[in-house]
Amino acid sequence: MSDNRIKEKTPIHLYMPEGTLPETPVWWLEDLRGKGVDALWIEIREKGKIIASPDTAGNGETGRIHGLPVIYRPLTESALERAIGLSSAGVAVDPRWVDHLIEHAGTGKKRHLPLYLTSQPQSPGFLKDELEILALSVEKLRSAGLVNLFSHIPVAHSTALYNAYGFLKRDLEVQTIVGITPHGEERDLLFQGALHIGSLFYEGFADAVVLIPRNRTLLDRHEAMGLLGIAKRTLATIGRYPLGYSVISCPMCGRCEIDIPGMTEQVERLMQSIEIEYREKGISLENTGGITVAVMGCNVNGPGEAKGADIGIAGGRGGSGTIFLKGRAHVTLPEKDLLDEFSKLVRDLIDEKIDTR
Ligand code: SF4
Repeated sequence: MSDNRIKEKTPIHLYMPEGTLPETPVWWLEDLRGKGVDALWIEIREKGKIIASPDTAGNGETGRIHGLPVIYRPLTESALERAIGLSSAGVAVDPRWVDHLIEHAGTGKKRHLPLYLTSQPQSPGFLKDELEILALSVEKLRSAGLVNLFSHIPVAHSTALYNAYGFLKRDLEVQTIVGITPHGEERDLLFQGALHIGSLFYEGFADAVVLIPRNRTLLDRHEAMGLLGIAKRTLATIGRYPLGYSVISCPMCGRCEIDIPGMTEQVERLMQSIEIEYREKGISLENTGGITVAVMGCNVNGPGEAKGADIGIAGGRGGSGTIFLKGRAHVTLPEKDLLDEFSKLVRDLIDEKIDTR
């Protein structure tokens, strides 16, 4: 059994195509922030008001919209100056605009602005040229003293994507942000997302994720939440994102003295309701670092095998079970009383994590 607790939290951004921000309600932006979106990418032109929602005017001058840092993406080279002026969290720019970039961001406090060099969607045939352009841009920017560089290159083909990000990371030594966008069915997206994000992060080729919805005119909440869920689950599996909680169970063997599937389901349901309960109080379990819960077949080996978990339940003899904390037996109770006590101890653990944050 692996210890799937989280070592680090990967930044997740949400891309908002031009014109979608005014149609997006404030509550939804706040909800996105609470659920793990760390920054917005917003497309802008040279002129035009930036509005956070129809009922509340966003203030682009602060570089944040409803608590979310904004990375502006100018749609034309002439909008670049405005994007740099507005943003304190970063600008996403075409690497071909490097001279303009140096001119507008090369001095004063904007020198440290994160620059997301964002190529246009590429078919594998054009990738080589695009990587050469990127390499040249990076060299020029570094020579001008602009070193807070990220790169994002959208490629649909898995092998090409893998090679491209390997080049960005190993040869150019820039930070990278990988996009996840819906293509085809939801099931395909799940596989693609897991494959693309999982393999790039696993190899150390990616540093952050940007969710790119398919709809260019109206942000679809269901779609964005789906993308967010896939990104978080995939990253959590490789230890790059704290889920609010994760439930693990043992593979079972002849020693098993508990209905593992049944108990795991009950524990899952309990954890879901606890997560909702805390969210309603304004507390995200993710922000506590997450909690790992184990359901183990026997109390002889179970606590030791699941010592990476914060808390667990292990089956015992004669209709009893043991609750263990950090691999050590805590209390043995009749099965009927296990879940009530477990639920109380989980809440105590979460409160402890909140207090020590
Ligand atoms: S915890 Fe017990 S039942 Fe589960 S695999 Fe280990 S020895 Fe077997």
